[in-house]
Amino acid sequence: MYISKSFIPILKNTPSEAKIKSHQLMLRVGMIKQSSAGIYSWLPLGFKVMKKIEKIVREEQNKIGAQEILMPTIQSSEIWKESGRYEDYGEEMLRIKDRQDREMLYGPTNEELVTDIFRSSVKSYKSLPQLLYHIQWKFRDEIRPRFGIMRCREFYMKDAYSFDINDEEAFFSYNKFFLSYLKTFKRLNLTAIPMAADTGPIGGNLSHEFIILAETGESKIYTDKRIFDLDSEGTKLEKKSLEDLRKKYDQFYSVTDEKFDKDEFEKKVSEKNRLQTKGIEVGHIFYFGDKYSKPMGGSVDLPGGKKDFVKMGSYGVGVSRLVGAIIEAKYDEKNEVMKWPISVAPYDIAIIPVMSKNDNSTLEKANNIYLELNKYNLSAIIDDTDENFSSKIKKMNLIGAPYQIIIGKQTDGDLLEFKEVGNDSQNLKLKDIINIIIEQKAKN
Ligand code: ATP
Ligand code: MG
Repeated sequence: MYISKSFIPILKNTPSEAKIKSHQLMLRVGMIKQSSAGIYSWLPLGFKVMKKIEKIVREEQNKIGAQEILMPTIQSSEIWKESGRYEDYGEEMLRIKDRQDREMLYGPTNEELVTDIFRSSVKSYKSLPQLLYHIQWKFRDEIRPRFGIMRCREFYMKDAYSFDINDEEAFFSYNKFFLSYLKTFKRLNLTAIPMAADTGPIGGNLSHEFIILAETGESKIYTDKRIFDLDSEGTKLEKKSLEDLRKKYDQFYSVTDEKFDKDEFEKKVSEKNRLQTKGIEVGHIFYFGDKYSKPMGGSVDLPGGKKDFVKMGSYGVGVSRLVGAIIEAKYDEKNEVMKWPISVAPYDIAIIPVMSKNDNSTLEKANNIYLELNKYNLSAIIDDTDENFSSKIKKMNLIGAPYQIIIGKQTDGDLLEFKEVGNDSQNLKLKDIINIIIEQKAKN
């Protein structure tokens, strides 16, 4: 792709309405465009990143045996009246009437709709567990939409739902998602820590929020630094192994402000391990038993002939919020350098020909490199403009492809100037460059 032909409307300066760096960068490089308060269009650069995040989220859901469905954005109020949440949800719910005067709504979440799907088809415990998920737009009429796509009104979410025969099996499902979340965020190159959380309007009694540390985050967190040394290495998709994984994390005090208790924090965490900071919620999982299945009649036949309501959980990831969260974690605002993790980068590599006007041979070299990279499924963007070198570098540093090839005076025969953003450049053959990137991609 030539930059001159791409739709990447870069701004010279940071827009003043943006208060945090993810919002600033996203507007600056034209990843999004606001359409009305808290509602955005996604332009090519932003859309590419979001789709790559979505793909990783999906792959990790599939790995734990969850099955993808797609529920609509518009729902009928009927099922929400059955669960009792039509009133409870309050002003955050966008209520609509159709031409027959029927009360509809734009879904803020899908517990009711998925319970309705479940109850109409699953009748026996033999079909359990069921893990269903979808990735769909949600609407919440947030009182204060802000920070761009971090707290907006229309956002893209992966939400999954589990259905089990009893608590023990339901915890097994819960722990599968716990593992899947750790793996998802790791592939996105984020350190997301699970924290015991309140259940809010979703209801229930067991819940974790997954939070990444960021000064600009809206959640206050209190944690034990030792939690950062943990990982999910070696966890098998088995009851015991997953239980141990969750215990390993739960042993450390780690909560958001709703659950914070100063005495407990000081008792459980030694002074040197205490960390009190802010973070961004990127995922939230809940177990709530029969909170929805009971009022909505979602029951199955048990082995002895009796019936019981299924035990449910729900599991959300803010796919669109993650785009901003990654920027908050990775953008070096001072030097104006963004380096996307290779797993979600809009382009793998930026090709920067340093050339004067009508220098066709340098541009041709760039094209050849582009074609060669394509053969290996590596995506590249070529700066074919006749701007000077420093403004080309500035621009590419904002776009954030993690690697750059500079074709200029340094280019000598087969050797190309190659740079991993943030590191010094080195002269390498194209073949070696390709190998380096392929190797990095394979790790994710
Ligand atoms: P928050 O406390 O940030 O409002 P929540 O607890 O209401 O989040 P959930 O209902 O658990 O959120 O939704 C799952 C995920 O969807 C959240 O972890 C978050 O990443 C994302 N999310 C929720 N609300 C928004 C929003 N207004 N804009 C963008 N993403 C959101
Ligand atoms: Mg909320």
